[in-house]
Amino acid sequence: MKVLVTGGAGYVGSVGVHELVKADHNVVVVDNLSQGHRDAVREDAAFVKGNLLDAEFVDAVFDEHTPDAVMHFASKSLVGESMEKPFLYLGDNVRAGLNVMRAAANHGTKRFILSSTANLFGDPAEIPIDENEEIAPGSPYGESKFILERNLHWLDTLDVLRFASLRYFNAAGAASPDLGEDHDPETHLIPIVLEVALGQRDKIEIYGDNYDTRDGTCIRDYVHVQDLAQAHILALEALDDQSRVYNLGNGNGYSVQEVIETARSVTGAEIPSEIGSPRPGDPPELVARSDKIRTELGWSPDYPELEDIIASAWAWHQKHPDGYEE
Ligand code: UDP
Repeated sequence: MKVLVTGGAGYVGSVGVHELVKADHNVVVVDNLSQGHRDAVREDAAFVKGNLLDAEFVDAVFDEHTPDAVMHFASKSLVGESMEKPFLYLGDNVRAGLNVMRAAANHGTKRFILSSTANLFGDPAEIPIDENEEIAPGSPYGESKFILERNLHWLDTLDVLRFASLRYFNAAGAASPDLGEDHDPETHLIPIVLEVALGQRDKIEIYGDNYDTRDGTCIRDYVHVQDLAQAHILALEALDDQSRVYNLGNGNGYSVQEVIETARSVTGAEIPSEIGSPRPGDPPELVARSDKIRTELGWSPDYPELEDIIASAWAWHQKHPDGYEE
């Protein structure tokens, strides 16, 4: 298939591109490089630089490439930032997604895969969280993804296209020592912990230790980025008949303290830590029940162990301590 990948220079998107090319799909990446890196995109994928908020630009890309499918990774994706700058999310995230959907609809692109989020479940009644859990976005970020899911629901109902929404839990790890996570500024737990291990930061600040969890720190479900990418390939190929919504995580929850401990054992570094204030918008525990995607698409993670996930990220950080360095 010809697959248009928005955000294909970003952390998860670039690994998605890698797996698509390996699976013999023809890939066109669209990215404004505001967060992504040109060097993260394989040379055998076409690359177009541009802004998805510009509807004419998006239309022109679809005119030129007429893709069979879209993988829409491009997004602002920080819970904390969205609590401070809601319109970047409720405005820009939604508008960019709608521009891509409208262009897909106008060009007969029948398959659409959305990167969605566990932040749809701000206050889950049951852990692990399955697809029947009530949607109650924990932040403007989660809300922006829910709005996009609802738009896709209507495009499906109106027979315009079929979609898969993949609700990622915590993407982590590196696909190889040359394809990893590089955000500026970095806000995610595992890369920050590894920056402490490398001596680039003094300590890791733990955002609250008074949550109702086994050690008082937040519990998350860390899923290897390559396993996420594999789920996209499976979903793409399964979109012939019906739209699909999946929770995508390992099903194993680790606390912030447990992540830091595991990183200490993987790296052999001391990794000093300090307790700070809770971060607004952070629910105490988010762990996926991903039985549905396992049963329906045969997905199963190749890297379910936190130790392996952190070791892969560590290999990337050691080889590229300054990231892609553009
Ligand atoms: N976290 C932390 N210190 C940091 C960064 C993150 O304690 O410097 C915590 C955060 O509160 C959350 C977990 O680590 O409970 C994972 O956060 P991250 O930002 O990596 O992903 P998110 O859960 O926001 O998608």
